[in-house]
Amino acid sequence: MHSPIPDYLLEVLDACGTDGGAVADYIPELAAADPDRFGICLATVDGTVYSAGNAETTFTIQSMSKPFAYGVALADQGHEAMAEKIDVEPSGEAFNEISLEPGTGRPKNAMINAGAILTHSLVAGDDGIQRTERLREMFSRCAGRELRIDESAFTSEFDTAHRNLGLAHMMKAVGILDCDPVEAVRGYSRQCSIEVTCRDLAMMAATLANAGVQPTTGEQILSRRSVRQMLSVMMTCGMYDAAGDWMTDVGIPAKSGVSGGVIGALPGQVGIAVFSPRLDSHGSSVRGVETFERLSTDMGMHMMEVAHEGRSALRDAFTTDGPDPVTVYQVQGDLRFTGAETVVRAISEAEHTTGRVVLDLTRAYRLNDVGQRMLLEVARRLGLDGIEVAMVDPDHALHGPHVEASGLEMFDHLDAAIAARADR
Ligand code: GLU
Repeated sequence: MHSPIPDYLLEVLDACGTDGGAVADYIPELAAADPDRFGICLATVDGTVYSAGNAETTFTIQSMSKPFAYGVALADQGHEAMAEKIDVEPSGEAFNEISLEPGTGRPKNAMINAGAILTHSLVAGDDGIQRTERLREMFSRCAGRELRIDESAFTSEFDTAHRNLGLAHMMKAVGILDCDPVEAVRGYSRQCSIEVTCRDLAMMAATLANAGVQPTTGEQILSRRSVRQMLSVMMTCGMYDAAGDWMTDVGIPAKSGVSGGVIGALPGQVGIAVFSPRLDSHGSSVRGVETFERLSTDMGMHMMEVAHEGRSALRDAFTTDGPDPVTVYQVQGDLRFTGAETVVRAISEAEHTTGRVVLDLTRAYRLNDVGQRMLLEVARRLGLDGIEVAMVDPDHALHGPHVEASGLEMFDHLDAAIAARADR
């Protein structure tokens, strides 16, 4: 059967093809872009890619490099050191606004140019070339292929970088930028000139959606903590002075670039990239914004759409027949606080007359730390009440030293866990 998803993406291309806006023209490489190019790419967290239109056209990454460079700087400097240099507040201002926090000189966030230039300077490396090489290499691992730098876009960008040089000199003057300001802007301009396609960007975004693990190679490229920080800053500051509109209408952590790309990462689900060069007054792709609005509405992708995880966490609860009955709780899905709470509540409220309880996690896909602790605590308390507890956990949804310390009976099959009682 032919999947309906590519057909749906083609429909979106048709529906979102407005001609409004204008291609960035401050450098010849951007001015030369074909304004009618339009591509969409989705990459799921299991590495499946769907695309439509010009998904293989190359363009420079521009500001979509900012969250990834921030992730690398967080890894190189640590979160605390980064917080001392760069704030995490939405600026409500244009991307190249000249504003630093009075007193500390910190840029408002790492998505506006001041913060992004400072971020670049905090990536490990002796100069702009080394720092960009570190970034190019890391972006390539996220994209799943070797990316290159568009040298002519870099030269044009750097030759006209007067405002960015102004920002860097100002940061040097207030003492927040340590390195040579010209070198920081040279490196930042190179970073913006890394060449990508919609498909590359969708894979990079999917790496964020997948908590830092590249979906096809399985490599943990960024830490979970860094990804959480990157996505938070994308959500609040990624769309500059349109961040509030974006949050309410689209609700997906995102970043746009002046080349016409927009990336979005929906945690746990999908990475999205759209490319079309005509820009609105905020410097974001007109069709890109329209496409994201449409995808979010059609596919229920807004992060504030309420999911009813809790209600479906307990798949079944039953008592086996026979002379030695056992009570079985079957847990399913991705268990976080609300899901675990449903299971914990059902177990806590039940009268256990069977003397043996089996928690079957065969269909539990993943338990976060809170989910694990809550289930282990319930098992411990049942034990204190004199009830035997066994776990069925073939895929090790429960793991770590606290599981071994619990001394729980562990089984790979429900039948074995039930039979273990009858055997004695
Ligand atoms: N290289 C551009 C600049 O810093 C990036 C701007 C953007 O993509 O929004 O001016």
